[in-house]
Amino acid sequence: MTKTTFTFQELKRTNHREIKEMQDKKFKAFIRYQVWPNHPYYRRLFKENNIDPFNITCIEDWAKHQIPLVRKIDYKDNLAKFVLNPSQVDGKDRDPAEVIKNLMSFSKAAGYNDLYSFLRNNGARVKLHLGGAKAMERLKERLTYLYAPLQFWLSSGRASGLPSPVFLTRHDNDLLFKNCVKVGQMAVDAWAHEGWEMVSMNLFPYAPHLGWHAVNLGLKQMSKFYIATSGGGAIPTGKLVDIAGAFKANGFAGMPSYLRNRFFREMADSDYKAQEKVVVLLAGEKIYPRVAEDIVQTLTEKGAKKVRIIGGYASSESKTSFAVQCNYDGPYHNVSPLLMSWELVKLNDDGSYEFVGEDEPGNVTLFHLDGTGSIVQGFLLGDVASRQERGKCPVCGMDGPFFWDIGRTNDAEAQIQVMGLSEKKIKGATVNLTALRTDLLALAGVEELQIEVAKEDMNDPYSMDVLNLYVAPKVAVNSDHTSLIHEVASITKKSTEITPKVVIIAFEALLEKAGGMKFMEIFDARPKPA
Ligand SMILES: [Zn+2]
Repeated sequence: MTKTTFTFQELKRTNHREIKEMQDKKFKAFIRYQVWPNHPYYRRLFKENNIDPFNITCIEDWAKHQIPLVRKIDYKDNLAKFVLNPSQVDGKDRDPAEVIKNLMSFSKAAGYNDLYSFLRNNGARVKLHLGGAKAMERLKERLTYLYAPLQFWLSSGRASGLPSPVFLTRHDNDLLFKNCVKVGQMAVDAWAHEGWEMVSMNLFPYAPHLGWHAVNLGLKQMSKFYIATSGGGAIPTGKLVDIAGAFKANGFAGMPSYLRNRFFREMADSDYKAQEKVVVLLAGEKIYPRVAEDIVQTLTEKGAKKVRIIGGYASSESKTSFAVQCNYDGPYHNVSPLLMSWELVKLNDDGSYEFVGEDEPGNVTLFHLDGTGSIVQGFLLGDVASRQERGKCPVCGMDGPFFWDIGRTNDAEAQIQVMGLSEKKIKGATVNLTALRTDLLALAGVEELQIEVAKEDMNDPYSMDVLNLYVAPKVAVNSDHTSLIHEVASITKKSTEITPKVVIIAFEALLEKAGGMKFMEIFDARPKPA
C-alpha cells in the first residue's frame, strides 16, 4: 500500500533512498496510466517525439530520452490541454469502461489499494448487474471528485494580458489540505517540543493566487488560534497591527516586501507589544537579508526575544505543496516528495539538457507525481537554485531532497530562453509587461508610452515596487487628460493588479527620456540590492 503523501512526522523518519524509490514508483505509474492516456499535451508530445511512455521508469528518464521541457509560453498557449481529461482520447469520446480500466491500472501500479478495490468492486457490480445502478452512481461520483476542475488560481500573465489559470480538482484540494500544513509545522518544529503554540496571522494578499489560500488552509489546521485576514486588502495596515496586538499573534505569514515596508513599519510606529517567540513565514518574492534583518529588528525592539524567519517556495503550478526552509540559513525542503519533484537542469547551447549533479546550480524544473486537474512534467519554472541534495540536511538533520538559494531568473534574455517570454515580478505578482504595452498602445488617445518599473523609494532597493507609465498623448499635452489617465490606469490595474502612476509627457520629451533612437519600451529602473 502506497501513501498518497507523508505527514510531517512520517517525512521526518523516512530516508532519502526510500523516498526516491517511492517517487519513481509513483512517477512511473502516473506517466503510464494518468498522463499518457489522459493528458492531451503530453500524449501528443510523446507521439511527436516517438517516446514510448512505458520506457519511462524514473524521473531521470525524462532527460535520458530528451523529452522537450515545457516552458511557460507552451503552457499559456495550451491551457486546456494541460488538464487531465479521461473522458476523451485524441479528440474522441472514450468508453467509460476504459476510463475505469485506466484508473484501475493506475491505482494498482501506484499502490493505491483502497482505490483499486473500490473500482474493482463497483465495476464488477455494474458488469454483473448486481446493484449496478448504485455502483455506477458511486463510480461517477468518484470520477467527478478526481477529475472535475473545482477552482483555479492564476499564474502569470499570458499573451493577451490575461493571467493563465491553473486548475484544481476536489482531489487536488484535499491534497493541498493535507500538505500545506507541513510548511507551518516545519517553520515551528524547533519550538514545537517546548509546547509552544502558534497564534497565527495570514497577511498574504487575498486573490485567486496560491499564497493566501494555501496559508489559510495550513494555518487553520496547525494554530491554537488563527487570525484569517489578508494584507493590502480591505483592512488598513494600522488596524491589522492593532488586531495582531489584541490577539497576541506570534506567527505571521506574508510577502517579504509587504511585511517589511507596510506591516512591520506600521508596527514600529505603534505601541505594539511583541510576543516572546515569533515566527515569520515569507514567500512569494526573493528574501533579501536586509528585509529579514529589518523585520527581526522591529520585532526585537517591540520586545520579542527570539524570531525565526523562514522562507517558503511554491509556484501556481506546484499547486498542492511547497518547499520550505528549516531555518533562515537552511535549505528548502520538499515537504511533499510523493506529490512532486523539483529537479535542477542545465540547458545546453545545442538545445539539449541534463539533470545536474549535487553541487551544481540549475534551472528549477517541476514534475508532478500525483494529482489531477492541471498537470505539468519537465516544467521550467523560471527560477534557479544553487544546488540540490538528497540526504541528511546539515542544518536540521532531516533526510530527503532539499535545495539551496532559490531565486528568480532576472536577466531578461535568460528569461526568454527559459520561459519563452519576458516577465517581471512586481510586488510579488508576475506581470507580462509586453502584453500590457500592447493593450495600452491600442488606446485611441495614446501616441507612445514607456513602462517603468521602479521603487517607492529609489534609494531603498527593498522598498515597495511601483509601476510608472509615461504616456505621450495623441493630442496636446496641456489639454485635459483626466479620462485618458483613468483609462490607462484601469487597464493596467485589470491586467496586472497594480495601480500605476500615470505621467503625461510630450512625445519629444518621452523619446528623449526613453533613450531616443534606442527607445526602451520597458525599463526596469529598480536599484539592485548590493
Ligand atoms: Zn533542514
